[in-house]
Amino acid sequence: MKVEVLAIGDELLIGQTINTNAAWIGQEMANRGFRVQRSLTIADEPQAIVAALDGIMPNTNCVIITGGLGPTKDDLTKYTLARYFDSPLEIHPATLAQIEGFFASRNKPMLEVNVQQAALPTKATILKNRRGTAAGMWFEHQQVIFISLPGVPYEMKTIMTEEAFPLLEKLFVGATLYHKTMHTQGIGESFLADQIADWEDRVRAAGLGLAYLPSPGMVKLRLSSYTGDENAALIDRFFTELEERIPSHIFGYGHTSLEAALGQQLLAKNATVGTVESCTAGLLAQHIAHISGASAYYQGALLTYSNALKVKIAEVNAAVLTQHGAVSEEVALEMAANGRRLLGVDYCLSTTGVAGPTGGSAEKPVGLVWIGLSGPNGTIAQKFQFGDNRERNLEMTTLSAMNWLRHYLKTN
Ligand code: ATP
Ligand code: MG
Repeated sequence: MKVEVLAIGDELLIGQTINTNAAWIGQEMANRGFRVQRSLTIADEPQAIVAALDGIMPNTNCVIITGGLGPTKDDLTKYTLARYFDSPLEIHPATLAQIEGFFASRNKPMLEVNVQQAALPTKATILKNRRGTAAGMWFEHQQVIFISLPGVPYEMKTIMTEEAFPLLEKLFVGATLYHKTMHTQGIGESFLADQIADWEDRVRAAGLGLAYLPSPGMVKLRLSSYTGDENAALIDRFFTELEERIPSHIFGYGHTSLEAALGQQLLAKNATVGTVESCTAGLLAQHIAHISGASAYYQGALLTYSNALKVKIAEVNAAVLTQHGAVSEEVALEMAANGRRLLGVDYCLSTTGVAGPTGGSAEKPVGLVWIGLSGPNGTIAQKFQFGDNRERNLEMTTLSAMNWLRHYLKTN
């Protein structure tokens, strides 16, 4: 079944209300293997509604319309649909009884506008609204089903779940959707797409769906099959190929997180970890310790934001600090190595960087970060150049440090 979603409401267009109805309908359709192929948002205006109905894509089976069914004068959807489908309005007794019951149970007087909510197009099948006064309407016109629902999210969801989906599922068999999601860190969406262009071509040629789902510092890749899990092994093979191509960036599948993936590696090695943080000021500690059971490996942090504390607490050599500056390879190395000793941990991560937006220089621009990693086999540091947004720089530093240690533990 191919679906279009038509959200009606001026408040949606001006951004006063977020169109959560479209998101919910999209998810629920996908869960049933139905395909939403387009989603439109339009004004509460008859011309806009008519134009949208005239313009649906030719292969659409079902249009879900939300909004504009209320009792007020700005709610024109019902009248517009009645005219469009050439259907007179008549009082629908069951709906009138339901509306009367709705007001009686709340001890509120019923107004004429509420009575008019029971005036419904005779050509429509009425979908009962247990939670409000605007009934849903189901029209069939030139082989296409049009379902009109109130905009109030809980009313829309109730009618879809209790009335519309059971009917749709009788008429259409959904494709069974299978998908698997791979998580990556530290590789931008366009750079990733460029590196795996040939892989992507083969994925699509095999009839699989591919989605890039980016968030700051991370990109998820989702492979989906519309023919159930018969393609599960094929999807696994495609992901295995990527694991060989970009091993340091892939940290897991499905409902995992980088914090959890790192925790698993530490548990597998029976190793402990600590952090010595300058620019991240505890953010790295917070992320690592976010996982339930982190006390099995996370020992604690030295928070050395100032130069004075780097010397006093992390025992960084004052001469090295003066010569190279706080944001330097040398200082990152000392922070990690000393931290490992002072905290008594197997592995220690350190962070020092120019978070911005101020404080950059030609030599050390905003977004420059050094991360140190100290372990039983020695201490190393890596340089990163992030952007000009402070919050994102700190988040990226944290993610990069965790992913580095995760991959290091896996390969060393
Ligand atoms: P009512 O009986 O309340 O008048 P209605 O069908 O006329 O219902 P609207 O007036 O369009 O619906 O919207 C009612 C409420 O639902 C408003 O608070 C609106 O912001 C919210 N709403 C409408 N459309 C959406 C949408 N697509 N996503 C999320 N909320 C919505
Ligand atoms: Mg409205």
